[in-house]
Amino acid sequence: MGKIIAIANQKGGVGKTTTAVNLAASLAATKRKVLLIDLDPQGNATMASGVDKYNVHATCYELLVEEQSVEQVVIKETSGLYHLISANADVTAAEIKLMEVYAREQRLKNALAPVKDFYDFIIIDCPPSLNMLTVNAMTAADSVLVPMQCEYYALEGLTALMDTITKLTSVVNDKLHIEGILRTMYDPRNRLANDVSEQLKRHFGDKVYRTVIPRNVRLAEAPSFGTPVMYYDKSSTGAKAYLALAGEVLRKNNTAKKAQKATASVA
Ligand code: ADP
Ligand code: MG
Repeated sequence: MGKIIAIANQKGGVGKTTTAVNLAASLAATKRKVLLIDLDPQGNATMASGVDKYNVHATCYELLVEEQSVEQVVIKETSGLYHLISANADVTAAEIKLMEVYAREQRLKNALAPVKDFYDFIIIDCPPSLNMLTVNAMTAADSVLVPMQCEYYALEGLTALMDTITKLTSVVNDKLHIEGILRTMYDPRNRLANDVSEQLKRHFGDKVYRTVIPRNVRLAEAPSFGTPVMYYDKSSTGAKAYLALAGEVLRKNNTAKKAQKATASVA
């Protein structure tokens, strides 16, 4: 059974899209079947996957509003060896139209149900707000991966996100949990970053990934070439960090699976 991971943080510019694209590519490089869903009308994950957002046959608008199937809207040719459901400005309209429909927060979950077993991982790149698109992502997801920059206000934002997750857990998705917290654009020479990082570990323990994503210019350059960083500069610190993250995600999920099996056989 595939795992659905939403990449979310209501703050913009923290590395959600960079993480979604490069984690998807790194998991795909380990021969996992991966679907990346771009849920942000800015379409950055789409462009970073080598797909022209102005020239796509369908986006998640068709998936969510017109209830087309994943098979109808999916793009199988990307620069990252994963499948993609794209986004562009049309998706802004989806957010508004969804407000009018029945079971509006369930649309993505229902759309993914038929393909959940086909993919090993479905990664959702969320927009930088807690709107109906993000609620759809969190309703569909098994877990949330939170990228964050270790800055002064970061912990406050994180608390707001955790509150939202707790609320959603009680209303629309009782199995939603934190997949992990990822420190991005990390500069170990920055004292504040180290302090915030320590606080984060104290507060969230092993939910904080050991892998840290360093600030690396190759990560910022790769999207303009329409490719994940590992196919742009595979020896860069950014490429290595995202491969390490994929390894950590795989290990955590194997362990989780084993634990589940053990509980099942005891029961
Ligand atoms: P979000 O999706 O949360 O808005 P992005 O992934 O688009 O954030 O990142 C914001 C900007 O920072 C982008 O220009 C991106 O290329 C750059 N960036 C992201 N992560 C890194 C990193 N580790 N090192 C350097 N630049 C980064
Ligand atoms: Mg983004």
